[in-house]
Amino acid sequence: MSSLPATSSFSNPSIERLVAALVADEFVPFYQPLWDVRRQRWEGVEALIRWQHPTKGLILPDHFISVAEQSGFILRLGDFILSKACKQMMYWREHGLSHGIVAVNISALQIHQADFVDNVASILRDTGLPPQALELELTETVALEDTTTLIENMHHCRSLGVRLSIDDFGTGSSSLARLQCCPVTRLKIDKTFISHMTTELTDHTITESIITLGHNLNLSIVAEGVETAAQQQLLEKLGCDVLQGFRLARPSGAITTATLWPSHHA
Ligand code: C2E
Ligand code: MG
Ligand code: MG
Ligand code: MG
Repeated sequence: MSSLPATSSFSNPSIERLVAALVADEFVPFYQPLWDVRRQRWEGVEALIRWQHPTKGLILPDHFISVAEQSGFILRLGDFILSKACKQMMYWREHGLSHGIVAVNISALQIHQADFVDNVASILRDTGLPPQALELELTETVALEDTTTLIENMHHCRSLGVRLSIDDFGTGSSSLARLQCCPVTRLKIDKTFISHMTTELTDHTITESIITLGHNLNLSIVAEGVETAAQQQLLEKLGCDVLQGFRLARPSGAITTATLWPSHHA
């Protein structure tokens, strides 16, 4: 399957087409490994949804996630991906291939559902994945919002043992006061800072500040979009905990991803 170019005109598919695609089993999670700097091994993976379109090839989430969110279809799609990703990590664990974690992106609509945590708990029960092996990624704007259901859901997830991270950190308008009482375990520095950190002083400064801030709040830090050796070296020097990006590994299907495990995973 070929990837569509970023300029593809295949955007905003109809909701009917998305439902049909789910029924036809055309959605698949890809997995991008996360590199644990201190232990020098793969920590786990982030699940990233792809649409394996029968004629158009592999379609990236930017072309359909917003339609899925606006229509509410993301609730079904989100459950599907969460369940697939948990099942996959459990399979790798049972076969001794990985003892890592799986991170899954959660949209605003999902985390605001009153039955969100029950739903996560039942997926964990059905797949057998330990809650500690699941991380839910929320974007900064969502995670730091001040609504009761959201805050309760986040606390309930943590009491189950599920990890929470803030995705694309640094791009939203987060208040540090909210961050301090938000029950997350990790910050993922947005890739726009990482791509310019070796050439732009401000991006270097922002990255360094997020690492210091996160560590002072006892959070682990992931750098997203690491593409070059220079970026990797600098991030390691700054004490970044986990690296994610094409420099380490690209997102790929479960079978390709699994070929990485034996050589690097303890
Ligand atoms: P994200 O969660 O911030 O995921 C990281 C994105 O950066 C992914 O794009 C990944 O392929 C890309 N990436 C990773 N390393 C590099 C690199 O070194 N350089 C560059 N330029 N890009 C890199 P992708 O897979 O197209 O996903 C885009 C966004 O779609 C995700 O951003 C996430 O917000 C959303 N998404 C993906 N899967 C799901 C899902 O299952 N549910 C929901 N709600 N959203 C999803
Ligand atoms: Mg993410
Ligand atoms: Mg991100
Ligand atoms: Mg993103």
